[in-house]
Parts: sequence; C-alpha cells; structure tokens
Amino acid sequence: MHPRTEMLDLVVVEGHAKGVVVRNLSTGEITTHAADAVILATGGYGNVFYLSTNAMGCNVMAAFRAHKRGAFMANPCYTQIHPTCIPVSGDYQSKLTLMSESLRNDGRIWVPKSAEDAQAIREGKKTGADIPEDERDYYLERKYPSFGNLCPRDIASRAAKECCDEGRGVATTGLGVFLDFEDAIKRDGEDAIRARYGNLFQMYEKIVDENPYKRPMMIYPAVHYTMGGLWVDYNLMSNLPGLHVLGEANFSDHGANRLGASALMQGLADGYFVIPSTIAVYLAEQKPGAVTTSHPEFKKVENEVKDRLKSLMDIKGTKSVDSFHRELGLLVWDKCGMARDRAGLEEALERIPEIRHEFWTNVRIPGSSSGLNSELEKAGRVADFIEFAEVLCHDALAREESCGGHFRTEHQFTEADEEVQDGTTQTGEAKRHDDHYQYVAAWEHTEPGQPPNLHKEELIFEEVKPSIRSYK
Ligand SMILES: Cc1cc2nc3c(=O)[nH]c(=O)nc-3n(C[C@H](O)[C@H](O)[C@H](O)COP(=O)(O)OP(=O)(O)OC[C@H]3O[C@@H](n4cnc5c(N)ncnc54)[C@H](O)[C@@H]3O)c2cc1C
Repeated sequence: MHPRTEMLDLVVVEGHAKGVVVRNLSTGEITTHAADAVILATGGYGNVFYLSTNAMGCNVMAAFRAHKRGAFMANPCYTQIHPTCIPVSGDYQSKLTLMSESLRNDGRIWVPKSAEDAQAIREGKKTGADIPEDERDYYLERKYPSFGNLCPRDIASRAAKECCDEGRGVATTGLGVFLDFEDAIKRDGEDAIRARYGNLFQMYEKIVDENPYKRPMMIYPAVHYTMGGLWVDYNLMSNLPGLHVLGEANFSDHGANRLGASALMQGLADGYFVIPSTIAVYLAEQKPGAVTTSHPEFKKVENEVKDRLKSLMDIKGTKSVDSFHRELGLLVWDKCGMARDRAGLEEALERIPEIRHEFWTNVRIPGSSSGLNSELEKAGRVADFIEFAEVLCHDALAREESCGGHFRTEHQFTEADEEVQDGTTQTGEAKRHDDHYQYVAAWEHTEPGQPPNLHKEELIFEEVKPSIRSYK
C-alpha cells in the first residue's frame, strides 16, 4: 500500500504499460514502480467544471497522463448533470452538494409562472408561500404528465435551466427552482416525511439555513458523473496493451448508454467480476517481471515528471491555481455544460489555449516541491484539466447531434418535426443522427496545442434497435 501517493505519469515500454511514476504527497519524493500490467481506477473528470458534486480531490490527471502516453480518450462529451443539488450560493464556493434523487418521489418541482414573482422572490420581497397555487408552474408535471417529477435526470435538469433562462429562477442567483413538500406533508404528515427524508432535510437546513418543512427547498442541476473516459475493450484494456482502466475512469459499458446509469454497479462489476478474469488474458502472454525499474524508460519518465514539477514551481506568477480552475470551469460549464452549441464550443476552444498559456506563465505556487504542498498538487491537476477541457469541447463540437448526456441546442425536436406532430416524441427532446454518429469517439493525443485525432468505433445494434425517447 502506498497511501497519500499520487500517480503523475505512466511508463510505457515498447508500446506496453509497464509502470507508474508517483509522488509521495507528504514528502514530495518521486518514485517509480514497475509491473507486468497497470490498472487505473482513478475516477471521473467532473471537476473540470470546477463546481460539481464530486469530492474535491477528483481529477483527470492519471487518465490524462495515460492519454498523453497513447491511450485514447473516449466520448468525453457525455456528462451527467444531476437535477437535485443545492444551488450555487456565491462566487467563492468550491463544491456543490447533492440532495438525494429520492426527494423527487414526494417533492413537487415548480417555479412561479411570472418572471415578476420570481424576481420578487429573488429579492426577498416574497417567499414561495406567497405564490398562489394557480400562479405556480409545476413544469415537469405539465410537460411530462406520465413521468412528472420523476422524469430522467437530463430532462429534469434541462427543464430547470429553461425556466431559469426565462427569468423564472428563484434562488438569489436566479439559478434555482423549488422542490416543495407542502402537499406531501399535508397528505402523509410531517412525521412520515421526516422518517423518509429527515437526514436530507437536516443537511439542507444546515447548508441553506431554511427549514424545508416550512418553506420549499431550492435545487439546481450540477455536474455529477462523467460517462466518458479512457477507451477500453471488453477486457477493460485500453488501446495501450497492459493498461487496464476500471470504474468511472473508463468510458464504460454503463456510460455507453450515455446517460450514466448505475455507476457504482459498473465499478463493482469491473473490479470484482471482470478484471480478475480478463487481466489474465494479457498476463498470459507476458513474461513475469521482465521489465523492472532499471529499464531506461523509467528514469526518462521520472526526469520528465521532475522537470514538469520544477517548471510549475519556477513560474512564480501572480494568480492562484484556484482562480485558473474557476475560470476554466465556468467557461466549460457555460459553453459545454447542460446545453451546447457550435458557436459556444468554438468560443471555448479559442479561450482555453489562452487560459493554458496564462496558467503556464502566471500561476503562483507557494512553498516548495520537496514536501507537503497542496497548491502544487492542485496545479498539476488543473494543468491537466485545462488540456482535457479542449478534448471535451472538440468531442462536443464534432458530435453534431443530441444524445443522452450530450445536448446540442441545434439538434432537438421542434413543432415542425413529423415525430412531434404524430406524437412519437415532444418538442425539446434530443435529436440523434444515427446515420452519422452511431459510434464511440475515441480521441488520440497529438502534438501539444494541436487538435486530437478522432478514431471511430462503430456501434452495431443487432437485437435492440435504438428508438426515439418520449416521456409524455
Ligand atoms: C455525491 C455522490 C453520490 C453518488 N451516488 C451514487 C449512487 O447513488 N449510485 C451510483 O451508482 N453512483 C453514485 N455516484 C457515483 C459513484 O459514486 C462513482 O461513479 C463511483 O464512486 C466511481 O468509483 P471509482 O472507483 O471509479 O472512482 P472514485 O470513487 O472516484 O475513486 C478514484 C480514486 O482514485 C484516486 N485518484 C485519482 N487520481 C489519482 C492519482 N493520480 N493517483 C492516485 N490516486 C488517484 C482518488 O483519490 C480516489 O480515491 C455518486 C457520486 C457522488 C459524488
């Protein structure tokens, strides 16, 4: 076991992943480790958006370093946005809190029908209780009568965004909708609701300082899970022989449904059931212990890691690591978040290289690299988030369709579509273009600063044919 140790690079020997270079986070010591095969289980990249429900330490570094050593990054544009999070409260918040999905079983989601009422609530002149029943828009129940408040996460998230974009958002920032238990409490009694959700109500009250038994909760969508990741085959091996990738770090079979179904289930299946059998397929063809850290490639990669850390420490600029992370995250959220379009993505792809340049010339990392230095740790992660954000936006730009966790506003059903007129689906639903985009997009790293190279893995459906969703 190597606790408090961070992988900073992958060692590839004759085209095979044969080890890692790590940094001891307490002492700053850099060491190399050789193996017959490498397994990455380093989680998702949700924090590229700066604010997300993920733990602060979640990052893309291990996966991205492997990507730069040749592993393909697949479908990064598919991101799950969870509708039930506590809204952003200010400019200097570092994390978002997820409220359990289960709340949508009993809570009713609404915003005022009029933008004037919403504004009065935002300004503290009215509360939700002041809005009469017939002035409330229970928009999910209205739009999706058979699923109502329990419609899928992407639909519920986008519907909340639409209301807020119309000026009907209710939190102080205008980015919030009500999740109201008034009817459930009247129907089942406060004790029953407390028994079901007491811990969540308590958590909400501690964070927001409002009693959700008396006033409706406020929620807003937030980044929660990332379906893209390193490309793997059915043996969970990447295109780099010997490099296996598990859980949220890979682009995953569960992610292949592009909405992010049970993430934990995938993690457990990968770790308990798949890899113990499949890694043997690779190991059976390797001579055990054939590569050791005495191979010159280990020293080479170790030196590259040390040079990179030195370059970061030597910048001695004026801006904090967090300020770069925040700027990047807000840009990616704005241009490549819940809804994307060509113009916004192109804008992001122009701005990200500027952020990268500014980072590498003006970031300030106090302290030294030879001991505990959380700013240095963060700097390495943010440097990778900046480069990764470009791959993410390239993927979203190239995919000229809407599909699951990737919604391009140019590609949605409208009144003019036959499928809406004949009741197959409804306006605003994602419009796929299977004839052109029924593939996994696997991106290969090229030269620094150059766009990644796209490889397509066709998706072939033999038994179950993809169809158009309808939650009417
Ligand atoms: C608030 C919340 C609630 C959720 N609820 C559900 C749910 O109800 N159902 C469900 O199915 N899923 C849920 N998920 C998603 C699910 O928890 C994750 O998808 C899952 O935990 C991912 O597991 P993992 O092992 O792949 O990665 P992680 O659990 O993220 O673990 C990755 C580990 O790798 C470490 N690491 C990262 N980079 C490096 C590096 N360079 N060197 C060394 N170590 C590194 C990290 O510190 C971390 O310990 C939830 C997620 C969140 C954030």
